[in-house]
Amino acid sequence: MSVKSRHLYNSKWELTYRWLKASVLGRKHYYCSCCRKDLKLGGGLANVEMHATREKHMKNEANWEEELLFPPDVLDEEAADDDGGCTSTCPMTQNNGTTATPVPM
Ligand SMILES: [Zn+2]
Repeated sequence: MSVKSRHLYNSKWELTYRWLKASVLGRKHYYCSCCRKDLKLGGGLANVEMHATREKHMKNEANWEEELLFPPDVLDEEAADDDGGCTSTCPMTQNNGTTATPVPM
């Protein structure tokens, strides 16, 4: 029964902030999935609210949401497929080149 418990981490906050996670450092800290950082909970939820409005965090949050929709691993596989298609079209461009080259008689 401590009044200060409101300044400790509360998993209910995760409903408001999807990137919010419990920190491995304990309940006096929280973890930001966007910034990939453990941060101090000096004033409880007020600290989280303040962090959410930070310019750095908002940039990280935009990237983080993109990664949720398009995981980097999937993008890498697609890029590899594109490379395979590129090499198969290369002989065709060579054919175009031969028609443009004048043959000396
Ligand atoms: Zn953050």
